Amino acid sequence: MTKNRFDFIVVGAGSSGCAVTAGLVEAGIGTVCTLEAGCSDNSPIVKTPFALMFMMGSRKRDWRYNTAAQSELGNRVLAVPRGKMVGGSGSINSMVWFRGRMDDFDGWGVEGWSATDVLPAFEQIESRMMPQRLAGPHPLAERFACSLKSDGHTPPSPEYEGAGVFNVNIRDGRRWSPADAFLHPAKASGNLTVTTESRVATILFKDKCAEGVELVNGERIYARKGIVMSAGAIESPALLMRSGIGPANQLKSLGINLIKDAPEVGLNLHDHPVIGVHHAGPASGYGLTLAQLPAWMISPLTYLLLKRGRLASNLVEAGAFFNARETEDRPDVQVHFIPYMMGWQGKACVWGSGYYADVGVCRPKSRGSLRLVSADVNVAPQIDLGLLDHPDDLATLVAGFKRLRKIMKEASFGSRSAPEMFPGNNVTSDAQIEQHIRDRLSTAYHPVGTLRMGTDKAPVSARLRLNGVDGLWVADASVMPGVTSANTNAPSIMIGHRAAQFIAEDH
Ligand SMILES: Cc1cc2nc3c(=O)[nH]c(=O)nc-3n(C[C@H](O)[C@H](O)[C@H](O)COP(=O)(O)OP(=O)(O)OC[C@H]3O[C@@H](n4cnc5c(N)ncnc54)[C@H](O)[C@@H]3O)c2cc1C
Repeated sequence: MTKNRFDFIVVGAGSSGCAVTAGLVEAGIGTVCTLEAGCSDNSPIVKTPFALMFMMGSRKRDWRYNTAAQSELGNRVLAVPRGKMVGGSGSINSMVWFRGRMDDFDGWGVEGWSATDVLPAFEQIESRMMPQRLAGPHPLAERFACSLKSDGHTPPSPEYEGAGVFNVNIRDGRRWSPADAFLHPAKASGNLTVTTESRVATILFKDKCAEGVELVNGERIYARKGIVMSAGAIESPALLMRSGIGPANQLKSLGINLIKDAPEVGLNLHDHPVIGVHHAGPASGYGLTLAQLPAWMISPLTYLLLKRGRLASNLVEAGAFFNARETEDRPDVQVHFIPYMMGWQGKACVWGSGYYADVGVCRPKSRGSLRLVSADVNVAPQIDLGLLDHPDDLATLVAGFKRLRKIMKEASFGSRSAPEMFPGNNVTSDAQIEQHIRDRLSTAYHPVGTLRMGTDKAPVSARLRLNGVDGLWVADASVMPGVTSANTNAPSIMIGHRAAQFIAEDH
């Protein structure tokens, strides 16, 4: 890079970073440089919805983090996939679109972030992301969509009980990511520089004012007006701590020069815990069988010519919300339904045909934390999701799992119906289900909360400024005080969009 001074630097071109970048560029308040650690998103593997299953675990496109040993799960270690490319996790995700429940935002209790405050931002981002009902869902997904007395046409909503085919950010059979909707169009302005393979190692400060960044290759880039951290709920707090902002004792013990003691940086980490049920049998869902070989062979052609067929499927085609425990007057769990044979013995691709569904807690109460274990940028932070630390989450999962099984049994899958293969008939009592959950629980890949915004001792202000220093904003999933009741991409984009509005107003 020849130029090393811009008005704004955005760290990370993920879901929020794309929105904040476009917002800053469109506000016309100066030049913007967006630095992305990963690679370009210009690849069929990113654009073809079905190919998402090949990106998880990819050395090139996934950060491939792991959790710390989860004490309530028999010390199991879980994968924490995160997109590492332009579009971030919005380029690796399943494209399911949900704002969340509107009272999620009221529940944040942060001035300026009520349901009424965030609604216009959702409407604005949706005019660009254009979520719509998945085209050509599998017949099993259509049938699942009629569960819970639903009409099969209305998309499900966390606002009430019901099932449906998901709304997705797919256009003409291709992934339409936040990079497509925000970042790429913003390049036309001439005020935007986007660089890939540009991982920020630390933020540079002068008298508690963020003045630039240093990349892992030692290159320094400076910002005249400010830096926006959009590196996601894992890397944003880690980057801050490496730069000297975090719990003083921890940073000192790692030999990091302290800029600002911020005890809450890295705390409040949480995610949606989910538990699944697998069905398998001949002629049911997508899968690898002799009978389906011709369909697989013709699928690239159908996809290339018509943008239809199985390769246009995002796999997570349908779902539901219901009230499992009935302790609240709103759904407490979300279901994802996948009309595809998912292996339950460690491999995603296995022989056979079948379908899968999982149930996850909408508003988990367990909290974990993220800590640095080394000042070295190449050493991953310790990611403790604290799964099932709160007993209510386990109780909700047990109740949700039992009702999900009932729904799967009663769904009118007709000749495509297949028996439950895992966990199967040996797991029926509450104690057995609890043990199954501890043995097999995973997450929906929605980590949030590590740089909570708020008005008390929160690290980030309601205007998304990092408290205690100048020239630094945070705009990504890390600022959510509590995870929204459904998938987190839309709320992350909304946060990026609003961050740009706040910064533009302040300038
Ligand atoms: C496999 C998977 C499936 C998912 N499915 C769905 C779904 O169907 N629907 C939904 O709503 N949500 C889904 N999510 C969650 C959703 O995608 C995320 O919540 C959302 O993308 C988070 O946005 P973000 O901007 O906070 O972070 P990200 O989108 O992860 O962006 C962070 C960006 O910063 C970059 N970066 C990190 N560190 C640095 C650094 N030091 N220097 C420079 N760049 C850096 C990263 O490479 C990345 O591009 C899924 C997530 C995953 C991983």
